Amino acid sequence: MSEENCIFCKIVRREIPATLVHEDDTCVAFNDLEPQAPTHILVIPREHLDSLDKASSAQKETLGHLLLSAAEIAREKGFAEGGYRVVINTNSDGGQTVFHLHVHLLAGRQFVFPPG
Ligand code: AMP
Ligand code: ZN
Repeated sequence: MSEENCIFCKIVRREIPATLVHEDDTCVAFNDLEPQAPTHILVIPREHLDSLDKASSAQKETLGHLLLSAAEIAREKGFAEGGYRVVINTNSDGGQTVFHLHVHLLAGRQFVFPPG
């Protein structure tokens, strides 16, 4: 997937609409179009990276930033105490459909484990 055609890069560039809930120099967070929970937010790096599988130590800070941002958003929205789930689907068996690395933040209902 080239950055030119990547839908999440288009969201970062504001070429297609999204409901942003957070943005900073490293990441952008927005509501998922097809929410799987009352709160379903995607936290993505501004920099294009196909998947977690493509990450290296060069992305160490970015990966940490994505997780800490998800935790901060969850805290701000009042989910920290009750809990929430953070998911990174990776490649085909992992259920990844958009090949721009993203962290799912799901909250507002009880989750089961293992997931389907
Ligand atoms: P994954 O299956 O882990 O790759 O997750 C991709 C997620 O992106 C899915 O939950 C989709 O509902 C979501 N999604 C796809 N296109 C958009 C979009 N334009 N705006 C917001 N969320 C989207
Ligand atoms: Zn991208």
